[in-house]
Amino acid sequence: MQEATQRICTTPSAMLCAQGQGVVRGYAIGRAVVMGAAALEVPHYRVAVEVVEQECVRLCAAMDKARDEVTALASGLPLDAPKEMASLLGVHVLLLDDPQLRAQTMALIRERFYNAEWALTTQGQLLQEQFSAMEDEYLRERGADIRQVIERVLLLLSGGQPLTLNALDQAGDEPLIVVARDIAPADMMGLREAKFAAFLTDLGGPTSHTAIVARSMAVPAVVGLGNFRSLVRDGDMLIVDGFTGAVMVNPSALVLEEYRQKQAEFAQARASLASLRDAPSVTLDGIAVHLEANIELPEEAEHALAAGAQGIGLFRSEFLFMGRSTLPDEEEQFHAYKAVLEAMQGKPVTIRTLDIGADKVLDGEQTVATNPALGLRAVRYCLANPDLFQTQLRALLRASAHGTLRILVPMISSIKEVIAVRQAISEAKQSLAAQGITVASNIQLGAMVEVPAIAIAIEPFAETLDFLSIGTNDLIQYIMAVDRGDSEVADLYDPQHPAVLRVIAQTINAGERFNTPVSVCGEMAGDPTLTRLLLGLGLTRFSMHAAQLLDVKREIVTAHSNALRTKVAGALNRAERLDLAILH
Ligand code: PEP
Ligand code: MG
Repeated sequence: MQEATQRICTTPSAMLCAQGQGVVRGYAIGRAVVMGAAALEVPHYRVAVEVVEQECVRLCAAMDKARDEVTALASGLPLDAPKEMASLLGVHVLLLDDPQLRAQTMALIRERFYNAEWALTTQGQLLQEQFSAMEDEYLRERGADIRQVIERVLLLLSGGQPLTLNALDQAGDEPLIVVARDIAPADMMGLREAKFAAFLTDLGGPTSHTAIVARSMAVPAVVGLGNFRSLVRDGDMLIVDGFTGAVMVNPSALVLEEYRQKQAEFAQARASLASLRDAPSVTLDGIAVHLEANIELPEEAEHALAAGAQGIGLFRSEFLFMGRSTLPDEEEQFHAYKAVLEAMQGKPVTIRTLDIGADKVLDGEQTVATNPALGLRAVRYCLANPDLFQTQLRALLRASAHGTLRILVPMISSIKEVIAVRQAISEAKQSLAAQGITVASNIQLGAMVEVPAIAIAIEPFAETLDFLSIGTNDLIQYIMAVDRGDSEVADLYDPQHPAVLRVIAQTINAGERFNTPVSVCGEMAGDPTLTRLLLGLGLTRFSMHAAQLLDVKREIVTAHSNALRTKVAGALNRAERLDLAILH
C-alpha cells in the first residue's frame, strides 16, 4: 500500500525511521516485542528471577498434558474416522514433543522473564511465520497445526494457577515496547501488568480506544504506522517519540544519547509540574475551571486524587465488562462503583452506563452490524437488553449511598431515550425499595453529547437533564464522517473544523442559558494544545486522564478566559479551520 510505505524511510546512516501519529506524549527507548493477534490475548507479565524455573515447570506440565490428551485422542479414533485425522494428530503429538518449541519457549522465560503464556505465543508466532514463508504447500499448512497445538496448551495453562508476582519489577528491567498491527481495548487492559514502555500500532487514530487506554497508563504511544510491524524484529532497539510520532529502529549511539537527554528533560519538566497540583484552577481573569478525571478501572481513582482532580468526570464502566467470558453480576459491579465513590471521598463521581459496541466488544459477542459505530451500541444496547441494564442500574443505585454519584448515559440521540432511561432507573429504585434498600436522593442524571442530532437540537436536553458531557471523540467522528480508529483517514479527523467548534459552542451556550453544567470528557479536554480553544468556547469543566491534568492546568492558570472568548467568537463564523496561533 503506497500510503503505508511512505511512512517508512531510512536515514543516511541506514537507521530505519517510521512516522505515525503520536497519541500519547513522552519518549521511550527499549526493545521491540512484536506481537500477533493471538499473542495479545494472553496475560502478559514478567516473572521474578526466583520463580523462573517454576514457570518452566508449569509450561512443561501443560505441554505434557496436552501431548497425553492428543495421544489418547489418536488411539481412541473410531474406525470410520477420516484417515488424515490420525496423521494430523500425530503431527500435533510431534509438535508438543518438539524440543525446539519447548526449549525456545523456555529460553524466553529464562532470558526475558516472560510468563509461560506470553513466551509460548511469542515462540509459536515465530514458528508460524517461518512455516507460512515456506514454498512447500504441505509445510505451509503446518502453521495452522502450530496454532491449534498452542491453543490447547494455553487452555491448560489458564486452568492452572498462574504464578502471582510480587517481585514484578525485579525481573528483566530492560524496557519493552509493544509493536502490533492493532490492539483491541480489552487486550490493552491485559497488557497493563507487564509495564511496557510504549505502544506502537500499524492501525488506529488519536481517539481510538487503544490510544485512550495508553493515555490512561501514561505510556507513550504512536499509532497509524502503516506496515511497521512487518519491518521490525523482536529485540530491535527502538526510540519512540510520542510528540512527533517518529519511531527509530536500531539507532546510532549518537541518536540514542540525544533521546536519552530528551527523555530526562521531559521527566524533569513533568516533575516540576507537580507544584501545580494544589494551585487553584483559575484563569488570569478569575474564571474558575473545574478539572475532573477520566478512569477506566476503579483503581485509577487513586491517580485522579493524586493529580488533584475535583471529581471523576467519566468512569467508562464498560471496561469492567470486557476481556472476560462472563458478565460482572450486580454484586461485583456494586463493589467496583462503591470503591470509586469511597476513594473519591465525597467528590462527585460520574459513572457512565455501559457503552459497549463499535470497537468495544464483549468477549464471545460477534458483531454482525454492517456499521457497528452506527449500530446497537451504548444506550441502544442497554435499552435492548433490559435485564443487563437493570443489573447495572441496581448496582449503581446501591453504590450511591457511598458518595456523590452522577449517572451519565452514552450515545443519547432522542428525548424518547431519556424518558426510557428514567423509567428504567425508577424501576430499579422500586425493586430496591421493595427489598428495603435505600438509595441516595440526589443522584444527577446526564447525557453524553456525542451524537450530532442532540447537539444540533440541544435545548430540550439542556432543559431537562442535570448535566451534559460532550464526548468529542465520537462527536467529531460523526460530524466529520471519519472513523475515529481508522489511520487512513486520520488527517480528516479535525477538532478545529468550524462545524465541530460551532456544535461545541452551541452546546456550551445552551448549558449557560438553562443553567445546566456542561463538560467535555473526550480527548480534546486533555490535549493542552486545545485548552485555550476550549476556554475560548466558554468551557469551564474539563475531564481527562489524570496524567494530563497538570499540563492542562498550566494552560488554564496562564490564560485570560474573556479575551479568548472574544477571539474565538470572532473566528467561529469563518469557513476555514481555526488557527490556534490566534489564541496566543
Ligand atoms: C467520547 O466519545 O468522546 C467519549 C468520551 O467516549 P468514548 O471515547 O468512550 O467513546
Ligand atoms: Mg463516545
